[in-house]
Amino acid sequence: MHGGTSVPASRLGWVAKYPRHRRCKLCGRDASAAGPISARGKCAACADQRMVENLHSLRAHRGEGFERWYHEMHLTFQHERSPASG
Ligand SMILES: [Zn+2]
Repeated sequence: MHGGTSVPASRLGWVAKYPRHRRCKLCGRDASAAGPISARGKCAACADQRMVENLHSLRAHRGEGFERWYHEMHLTFQHERSPASG
């Protein structure tokens, strides 16, 4: 009996859980062209663009999403400022 204890790393699950991105999933460039790829699989340029688009949509809608975002920011701000001591 042999080979019974040898389990391929890909079967353990951690590889799937923490994938190593070598290529941006948005623009398709690899790390040598686009720079470091984030844990979410986006290069810095695409992550930046996505963030700007998010801000634009938030500004454009000014609806539920905007208010929720504003509310969360406000809560975070209050929490960090700790009103009890301020
Ligand atoms: Zn990209």
